Amino acid sequence: MSSCDVPGLMPLADAINKMQDTLCNVCEAITLPLSSALGYTLNQDIISQQNVPPFNNSAMDGYALHCDDLIDCSVMHPISLIEVGKSFAGAPFEGSIQRGQCIRIMTGAMIPDALNCVVMQEQVTVDGETITFVNAPKLHNNLRFTGEDISVGQTVLSKGHKLTPRDIPLLASLGFSELPVYRQLKVAVMSSGDELRPLGSKLEQGEIYDSNRYSIIGLLSRINVEVIDFGIIKDDYSEIKAALIKADQQADVVITSGGVSVGDADFIKQVLNEIGEIGFWKLAIKPGKPFAFGKLQNSVFFGLPGNPVSAIVTLYQLAVPAMAKMSGEAVKAPLRLNAVCIDTLRKAPGRTDFQRGNYSVNEQGQLIVTTTGNQGSGVFSSMSQSNCFIVLEQDRGNIAKGETVEIEPYSQLMD
Ligand code: AMP
Ligand code: MG
Repeated sequence: MSSCDVPGLMPLADAINKMQDTLCNVCEAITLPLSSALGYTLNQDIISQQNVPPFNNSAMDGYALHCDDLIDCSVMHPISLIEVGKSFAGAPFEGSIQRGQCIRIMTGAMIPDALNCVVMQEQVTVDGETITFVNAPKLHNNLRFTGEDISVGQTVLSKGHKLTPRDIPLLASLGFSELPVYRQLKVAVMSSGDELRPLGSKLEQGEIYDSNRYSIIGLLSRINVEVIDFGIIKDDYSEIKAALIKADQQADVVITSGGVSVGDADFIKQVLNEIGEIGFWKLAIKPGKPFAFGKLQNSVFFGLPGNPVSAIVTLYQLAVPAMAKMSGEAVKAPLRLNAVCIDTLRKAPGRTDFQRGNYSVNEQGQLIVTTTGNQGSGVFSSMSQSNCFIVLEQDRGNIAKGETVEIEPYSQLMD
């Protein structure tokens, strides 16, 4: 416990660890064509059955030769070799070659075993079949060797790796037309609250539009899960119970927002305690104190707070890594960097703040961060105008201009 731990509030790291310890992969293995596998997680190590490149080849358009033939070559002492054939990409030279001879070669074309370097075409003069050189090239000049990128038997990607656009061409170069991956996690999403109205309806007094479902589904669309949208659920015991039972039958994960704080109309707690095993946590983070986590009959439950900033912060910081574990993905710690804060920030010790800011590099090359202003948990513009979290440690108080703070640039989930 740190000096500022508040009794009854759970530090974020404990909450993350607790979820990681409780959860396991629930997604079965499937096979997908390479062209559909982007964003999926590998369920096996990928071991190369090929060398890349598969043969020694030229890195330049030019002339392939044996470098001993040009050992004494210089501008003062040019040497000529006889071109005896050509090697093009896909059409290798198949004749025999003697010393004193060379071949025309193009980028990516196979180089015969008898030759050991390539001279760029810009560095020679051509007179029919007589090619004149003015430099002594180094051994292996402009050559690309068999397996220099990847060799047979090498593990190129590991189980648990989520496939990026950079991986797909690599796997194509190795000839993988299909890949062993985990299926998508199925995630049911619903908003809860009598005040919430769907887009397109007219707001009556005291009503607001349901925005959380859009932030939640938007963010989920970046992590390659199958979303089942359950819409808005009223603060009504039977409606909540029916929706949660149905969601539990259809999904691996059920995410709600709203109704997990202490409020008279919050029936979610009551229903969850009946149909599952749920812990209602008070997290030592701001925003996002109330958070529910537990198990229904078939699925895992995340109850996000209703306030729009709190909902997205807890989804991003807690539920996303938990869902990664459930998808068989190797969970990575977020990138955090030190930056100079050029604004004053208000902060009370006791909770870890995820304030919203904008980082940039100033003229001196220093990483700096500014605040987006009002940090209320219902002020979503503080989120939409930001490009990073300013993560202020639990023990910390107000921040003065010029102090160093930790920032967490948004990953591609939020950018
Ligand atoms: P609750 O957690 O249900 O007490 O809600 C906390 C605050 O978040 C209240 O101001 C709610 O109106 C608001 N809120 C709850 N759900 C949503 C939602 N889906 N979209 C926008 N605001 C919401
Ligand atoms: Mg509510």
